[in-house]
Amino acid sequence: MPELPEVETSRRGIEPHLVGATILHAIVRNGRLRWPVSEEIHRLSDQPVLSVQRRAKYLLLELPHGWIIIHLGMSGSLRVLSEALPPAKHDHVDLVMSNGRILRYTDPRRFGAWLWSSDLTASNVLAHLGPEPLSEDFSSGYLFDKSRGKRTPVKPWLMDNKLVVGVGNIYASESLFAAGIHPDRQAMSLTADEVVLLVSTIKAVLLRSIEQGGTTLRDFLQTDGKPGYFAQQLQVYGRAGEPCRVCNTPVKGTKHAQRSTFYCPTCQK
Ligand SMILES: [Zn+2]
Repeated sequence: MPELPEVETSRRGIEPHLVGATILHAIVRNGRLRWPVSEEIHRLSDQPVLSVQRRAKYLLLELPHGWIIIHLGMSGSLRVLSEALPPAKHDHVDLVMSNGRILRYTDPRRFGAWLWSSDLTASNVLAHLGPEPLSEDFSSGYLFDKSRGKRTPVKPWLMDNKLVVGVGNIYASESLFAAGIHPDRQAMSLTADEVVLLVSTIKAVLLRSIEQGGTTLRDFLQTDGKPGYFAQQLQVYGRAGEPCRVCNTPVKGTKHAQRSTFYCPTCQK
């Protein structure tokens, strides 16, 4: 599933091909995504793209009279074509641009979304989102205050979008490992020092992934193949039974709120 670093990498990848160009029209081959593709997107014509932004895992294309809100869902991806290649089975949406580029959306499982909003502050999908993890609003003071009185295990707590956005399953496991914090700990048990370490670790893990993604940006404009996602060096995620890269103890796998969690029982207290 695309997580925040992949979405930010997508944003950086498509931005230079869209901003300053005009959407001539959209081609919606299959509008039955998680929600139906908004009517306004079907009807787009001659709309300049003013900016390409991101909020949580939503990509936001700013047009003069509103915003296209794109979510990649479980399996969605975007790529920029330099010519109108024949669409494949799962290529559901194209934006045909004035500069000859085509932004093509591919989504085998169709859990993604293409929505229109004339006013982002009124958008249902963006309401109630917590701070961006890389912003100053996501500080140790903020997280410590939120943790007081919280008996929730720290792993699912971190994945709650109302607390902080974009700390998905992979990054929650990886950040807790890097901070040496056991995923079963109640949030309220974290000390102030642990919260300081955890906040800086979350930011560092996400930034490192975005930087790794950046190295693939040159491949974002390509005629076929996969978009510019990237293989990551994971410390614990998906490595149950394999030796911890620090202490050689076998990594453990467990579940929190039906989501897989991985941790080292020696390194994480
Ligand atoms: Zn270990």
